[in-house]
Amino acid sequence: MGAPSPLAYIGLGSNLESPIEQVREALTELARLPLSRLVAASSLYASRPVGPQDQPDFINAVAALETRLSPLALLDQLQALEQQHRRRRQRHWGPRTLDLDLLLYANDHINSPRLRVPHPQMTARAFVLLPLAEIAPSLDLLQQPLSIWLERVENQGLERLPNA
Ligand code: ATP
Ligand code: CA
Ligand code: CA
Repeated sequence: MGAPSPLAYIGLGSNLESPIEQVREALTELARLPLSRLVAASSLYASRPVGPQDQPDFINAVAALETRLSPLALLDQLQALEQQHRRRRQRHWGPRTLDLDLLLYANDHINSPRLRVPHPQMTARAFVLLPLAEIAPSLDLLQQPLSIWLERVENQGLERLPNA
């Protein structure tokens, strides 16, 4: 028996071109990544956009992936999937067909120009924390239980969509 595979959490978001379908498809694609196994996926959530408000609401979810890909190799795969979804890089925090953020990778702390893990904004975002809590309720984040972080984002409107 080898060592267990690292567990990574990935945040998914879309607010263009049938966002629910974009996120569902992306979950299927994550499940097919090399050296990886999708172990959990949250419900879908609807959230107001971060930054510019003159754009559609987002659909968000969080997935847990057991993977033998390195963090940067996983980021390469996530960015390739974004490209496949015909994401056009426009303004920062603007609308997009698919955004895949690497939230956590085992207990790693990474601070490189291309990759920061834990994702620096995740503790402030209900659309990350709520779906994460759904699939990993007993997780600690930066040495604090998830519940502490959740209390701080309670005021952010987030709607859980019924499971289809
Ligand atoms: P935010 O990161 O605040 O959610 P964003 O998702 O809109 O903003 P992007 O335009 O998708 O930002 O990504 C910009 C760059 O962030 C990417 O080119 C990538 O190299 C870098 N990056 C750094 N850390 C991460 C991470 N943990 N997951 C995904 N990309 C990251
Ligand atoms: Ca993002
Ligand atoms: Ca991103």
